[in-house]
Amino acid sequence: MSFSKNVKKELSLIKPEKQCCLCAQTYGLLLFGRSFSSTAVKVLTQSKEAAETYIQSSMDFTGIEPTLIITKSGKFSVKFDSPDDRILVLNSFGHSEKDVILRINRANLEDECCYGAFIRGAFLSCGTITDPNKNYHLEFVVAHKQLCGDLLSVMHDVGLEPKNLQRGNNHILYFRNSEEIEDVLTIMGATESSLELMGTKMVKNVRNKINRQINFETANIARTINASMAQINAIKKIIDKKQFDSLPDELKEIAEIRINNPDMSLKDIQNEIGEVISRSGVNHRLNRLVEIASKLK
Ligand SMILES: [Zn+2]
Repeated sequence: MSFSKNVKKELSLIKPEKQCCLCAQTYGLLLFGRSFSSTAVKVLTQSKEAAETYIQSSMDFTGIEPTLIITKSGKFSVKFDSPDDRILVLNSFGHSEKDVILRINRANLEDECCYGAFIRGAFLSCGTITDPNKNYHLEFVVAHKQLCGDLLSVMHDVGLEPKNLQRGNNHILYFRNSEEIEDVLTIMGATESSLELMGTKMVKNVRNKINRQINFETANIARTINASMAQINAIKKIIDKKQFDSLPDELKEIAEIRINNPDMSLKDIQNEIGEVISRSGVNHRLNRLVEIASKLK
């Protein structure tokens, strides 16, 4: 199941306790459906749970039951068939069949408690969220410009700052920041999804950290091997040019250790040398070998 469907499933399980919040949720669901006018009051959704909530919430608040149809493509279409029912539904939210431009009637958001319920309803009807493993993106797709502007101002009232764009004929309010998306989910009441998002983010961060560490270590190993190869070539050249015996004892010792142990780190060589020497002392001796070799014709 997609993350979006999961979020909608979680939101559908929330039953508004107060009548004011039931009104706000139902209003959000209906107003942000496919259509909210005297010719059609309907929603089209991929989420079975969102469709069921649309039906249940409508029945609980208006007493009128809309009809559910499953389309050929497997979507859920819910609508009020009778023109009289549609007018009753519009009227119960203070809308008239004569409305020309669709706006949010703030009278349906009685109290602070109602804002979360309203946004939840709107999201169930017109929202989507991308799987946080792929990307951080949550959006509301609204068909009317003024209605989108009104939703934006409701969101501002609860401290949300979505971005705004137009896609085809639709007006989109969207969030791309993981913390903002957590806030939207929490305001709508999707605490579990919000926690899941935080968890995913933590796993992502740890994974990135581990990858950086692995890259760093791989680079280190590559550096060690490259340096070791250069030192071994230098020692071979010194032997070829019959200069090995003329090396000071401490260089002979380290040359023998290196040529027999190409993959030893400086620290390993440090432990192998029979005297107290620092790691940079080891490095210095190896560099002297490379330098001596480079001067040989
Ligand atoms: Zn309320």
